[in-house]
Amino acid sequence: MTTIKASCHSCGEIELTSDDVSLRVASHAPLSYYQFTCPTCHDLVRKPADDHIVSLLMSGGVRAEVWQVPAEALETKGGPEITYDDLLDFVIQLGNDDLLAARAVPVQHR
Ligand SMILES: [Zn+2]
Repeated sequence: MTTIKASCHSCGEIELTSDDVSLRVASHAPLSYYQFTCPTCHDLVRKPADDHIVSLLMSGGVRAEVWQVPAEALETKGGPEITYDDLLDFVIQLGNDDLLAARAVPVQHR
């Protein structure tokens, strides 16, 4: 089995086999990536995979899985970025407002 050398952000250079690596080739090439669980620190490491890396991994026996990027993911986003505080405010609002629960009640059919 082919040995694949990769790097972990914590441990540095490590050795993997083709079964250790997941390769996801996206319909929008810049979103392709490969990932593995580091055998030393057990962190999940995910890195972008350009065409060259895709070819190298596949020649090493890594099976590629193709995924279609949803069109929404490629839309241009406007406005300010969502901050951690924005998320906290959203969670607090969910806890204080029964509006969402009221809308979740099934419609009564006559
Ligand atoms: Zn590691």
